[in-house]
Amino acid sequence: MALPMTIAMAKKSRALQEQGVDIISLSLGEPDFDTPGLAKAAGIEGIEQNYSHYMPVSGYNDVRDAVVTKFKRDNNLTYTRNQIVVSTGAKQSIANLMMALVNPGDEVVVPAPYWVSYNDLAEFCGGTVVSPVAGRDQDFKITPSQLRAALSPKTKVLIFSSPNNPSGAMYRQDELEALAAVLRDFPDVVVIADEIYEYLSYGEVPHYSFACIDGMYDRTATVNGMAKGYAMTGWRLGYLGAPEWLAEACDKVQSQFTSGASSIAQRAAKAALLAGPAPVQYMVDAFKQRRDRFTTDLLKAPKLGVSLAPGAFYAYVDVTTYLDERHPTSNDLVMYLLEHGVAGVPGEAFGTPGYIRFSYAASQHDLDRAAVRITTALNAL
Ligand code: PMP
Repeated sequence: MALPMTIAMAKKSRALQEQGVDIISLSLGEPDFDTPGLAKAAGIEGIEQNYSHYMPVSGYNDVRDAVVTKFKRDNNLTYTRNQIVVSTGAKQSIANLMMALVNPGDEVVVPAPYWVSYNDLAEFCGGTVVSPVAGRDQDFKITPSQLRAALSPKTKVLIFSSPNNPSGAMYRQDELEALAAVLRDFPDVVVIADEIYEYLSYGEVPHYSFACIDGMYDRTATVNGMAKGYAMTGWRLGYLGAPEWLAEACDKVQSQFTSGASSIAQRAAKAALLAGPAPVQYMVDAFKQRRDRFTTDLLKAPKLGVSLAPGAFYAYVDVTTYLDERHPTSNDLVMYLLEHGVAGVPGEAFGTPGYIRFSYAASQHDLDRAAVRITTALNAL
């Protein structure tokens, strides 16, 4: 299995930085904020209270109950403790689900652009990935007819994220309902709704949980985590809510791989889960400001295809008009921009060549400088 391209790019730009090259890295998807004090304090208290022993594989009971509270409060989803599995990051939640659900020969529908790991994990389990593509012309969202064409009697899983990484697109409730209408003809397909960017949305499209749609609750796993919304990437804490049979299967998988998420991270997560979105609103406000300014600044390269994305913290720009003989692919163009001091991630990594993802989870100072470098370099082509 290769390194995810996002991590490979971050590695390459770090190496150049170590050689003294001034690179502004907009390649990795992590908030540049520190973890809020209330979570840090709860983690420290956890250490002092000797939360240092093995716990139930799916998480401490009170932490799972905090997840239940969060799902009810934020998503109007009613789960019981037995339906919750707390894991070492949302990545492990997704890996657990793939391992629990996908067998060799099964198909997994992953609309593109997609987060890099979905495909690798599905294929790791022997699954075959089917990727309908939704470009900027359709706001990076697949249509019901595209979904129908991608589904087959072999389909086991549909997985997507809203808000989306890399595009920042968000499905509206009516769009999700239209997709659910198609799924009703394929009753055995399980949906993995990756909602890790839920808190990072900027008002244009209200976040809506797929499991809320009539008939979808019993066949949907809702994945979320502390990394993005609570600036807790390094704590490695994610979770899912799912039908009990599926949560039990994930518990079994997890028991063999990690035995469960870190005790200390769980204590910190509990405090954050119970506090909800209010304490991190300042991050959302900052991201929104940066999004607006960075997106506008990128328009100084007039041929760039730029949209204002309603969620996450990425600008996913269409660079096809800049491709030429010297830079025939978006991958080549990313290397060209790296030479001009900005690291992004090519659309190839997300199943949509012709795009570049720039993360705006960076300081305004760096974003301003990066926008100048990007647009100057592109306009010089
Ligand atoms: N889903 C998506 C769409 C992501 O972008 C990421 C992180 N880049 C994850 C899941 C994994 O999150 P975690 O750090 O909690 O494993």
